[in-house]
Amino acid sequence: MTDCGCEKARRDLEEYLRDEVCKTKHSDITEHLDNCPGCRDEALVARTLTDVLARACKETAPEELRAQVLAKLREAHPAH
Ligand SMILES: [Zn+2]
Repeated sequence: MTDCGCEKARRDLEEYLRDEVCKTKHSDITEHLDNCPGCRDEALVARTLTDVLARACKETAPEELRAQVLAKLREAHPAH
């Protein structure tokens, strides 16, 4: 297993979610997300944010939205 590591995975996460990374990198990140719950949550937040932002006409600051999404995630996974 060649885990690319949390730092790299998170650095590339935005591009990954926009499908802008190359195929090799993409599978590295997918593999990392499969093995790392922390980064999987981070990816989920980022994906949710992207969706929310696409719908919300920038009425709320991205930082507030991020906090809201994180709070929701923590409610869903209290042990995290
Ligand atoms: Zn990780």
